[in-house]
Order: sequence, then C-alpha cells, then structure tokens
Amino acid sequence: MKSEMEIRCNMCGKKIEQKQDMPMEDFASVKKAWGYFSKKDGTVQEFDLCEACWDAFLRRFQIPVTETELKEML
Ligand SMILES: [Zn+2]
Repeated sequence: MKSEMEIRCNMCGKKIEQKQDMPMEDFASVKKAWGYFSKKDGTVQEFDLCEACWDAFLRRFQIPVTETELKEML
C-alpha cells in the first residue's frame, strides 16, 4: 500500500524524499484537465517527475522549453 503522502516519480518510480511531508528535493508536478475538444473530455491526468526524468523528458522535445529566471523566491 502506498501511503497518502508518498510522492513517487511516475517515470522511474523513485521516491521523492520528504521530511514532515515537505519534499527534500525538487520535483515536477503536472496536472492536466482535458477539455471538450480532446478525446479525454473531463479526464484529469496527474503525474510527478524527479528532476532527472524531467530532464530526460525535455530532451525529447523538438523545440526547447522556454526558460526564464525567477526574480524572487516565493
Ligand atoms: Zn524519475
């Protein structure tokens, strides 16, 4: 049984280390609610990726992602 608070990378299955429910490493969390003009109308898909899998994912893109510098940490 997977615990409620456990976060795992969907691509490699690696566990994102947490301390008191605070992630100890950064990871990407993606959530997409598909709308009317998709074949998945009303379906919400979610996944988490560790940084290494995120980088591997982005390397498959034909057009690189847009990168900007965060002006201040929120
Ligand atoms: Zn991963």
